[in-house]
Amino acid sequence: MNKGIIRFAASVLSAGMLLSMGTLMATPEKVNAAELGDKVDLIDLAPENGEEAIKEFVSRLYRICLDREPDAAGLKSWVDPLKNNEATGICVAFGFIYSNEFQSKNLSNEQYITYMYNAFLGRTPDAQGLNDWLDAMKKGATREDIFKGFAESPEFSNACAACGIVRGDYYVGVNVQTTSSVNLFVDRLYKYVLNRTCDPAGMTAWSQALISHAGSGAQVAYGMVFSPEFMNRSLCNDCYVDILYKSFLNRNAAPSEIKAWADALDQGANRETVFNGFVGSDEFTGICANYGIDRGASNFTGATTAGAGTCKCGKVYAQGTFIAQVDYTEAFIKKFGDIKPVGTLYIEVTLVLVDGKITMFIDTNKYEESIVKFATDNADRLIQFKTGKTTAEVAKSLGVSEDETRNLFVALVREKLKTTGAKVEGTYTISGGNVVASVAGKSAKGAIGNNTVTFDGSQLGLNEYLLEGEVVFKHV
Ligand SMILES: [Zn+2]
Repeated sequence: MNKGIIRFAASVLSAGMLLSMGTLMATPEKVNAAELGDKVDLIDLAPENGEEAIKEFVSRLYRICLDREPDAAGLKSWVDPLKNNEATGICVAFGFIYSNEFQSKNLSNEQYITYMYNAFLGRTPDAQGLNDWLDAMKKGATREDIFKGFAESPEFSNACAACGIVRGDYYVGVNVQTTSSVNLFVDRLYKYVLNRTCDPAGMTAWSQALISHAGSGAQVAYGMVFSPEFMNRSLCNDCYVDILYKSFLNRNAAPSEIKAWADALDQGANRETVFNGFVGSDEFTGICANYGIDRGASNFTGATTAGAGTCKCGKVYAQGTFIAQVDYTEAFIKKFGDIKPVGTLYIEVTLVLVDGKITMFIDTNKYEESIVKFATDNADRLIQFKTGKTTAEVAKSLGVSEDETRNLFVALVREKLKTTGAKVEGTYTISGGNVVASVAGKSAKGAIGNNTVTFDGSQLGLNEYLLEGEVVFKHV
């Protein structure tokens, strides 16, 4: 169902984007603090980061890299972008290391590495560490490579996290401001859509897709909103719409707006179609443009759009396709005798919950296929059990071959177990923490579990299909 998403994510991880990015930007560009300040003009819903901690973070870079205390204007020009989520920690550190003031120090490689230790790890180098880096440089590593190594260190990640700023990545050969903007865009979507901070692997995979233009802003948004992680949050329609407003219109929705969209979804509108509308908006196009990203097309189709569970607000939510694998062996034994331990016979029952309608589907082909295989594999034993005679004896009395005898038996089994219909339709409502399904005049409460809906098969009339007892449907 969500093959599209999986394919996209796989291409993100396997396309070897780093190789093609070198062409984008041959040499590092200097970052001017003043340029950062007017880059992004969003009414960002995220709280501002802690100003005092950020001031200390920047002042430290002044002391270590430029050997001086900051001047007030200079300090503000770096602190504001960090505070407003307009620059990553790495982007600002790059601004210091690649400033004229730092570059004019004309440092030796050994001195350069020592500065890197102090700036990013907060300590002077040990002899072994220093030699290792010098060795790497002798073998061709550039100062830019060394910068990346230190800037992406766990120590610098911790320093950024401690003052609430996004560390970001550094991609050799890519303009650092481009990387910073793209990293912040990805981080913003993680915060709003997935409600968590971005993990390093996710940051790199999505950012590189955007930088290489293998993915658009809309595709990244789609990958997150229709990811298993998002589905597993079991968000109700109200909470879903709330997230769309924050993520793609960059504002909080009024209660009346949430109600209008949620009502439309309750009455049959498709989540993917609603998503396409939000992502196709001028507002989201503007957000992408602010981060220097192509929005891309917003005509996605084919996503799995839900799950089952309890939303963060307490409402129960169930929508989508669920499949139950039911052990059919007992029912078979009741009809044809104890044939254990020759095997287990499973059949699949699909439950589709969409906007108040329920469709239950038993795959007749798979069902018959399983039975035929089961009976064929065990024909001799079953013939013996039913007739008290061997297959050869039965064949002789019928005047046919043994194979024909087996075929006749299998045909008989198939006839006896044939379903009266493969598709049944009904309705459902969500009430008191349960899905209440009504099918062909019978009703049953389906308990909501972790992406599952559990029904009593008999209550729902499924015994017509020899499905008795608890039937657990799992979301797919
Ligand atoms: Zn909710």
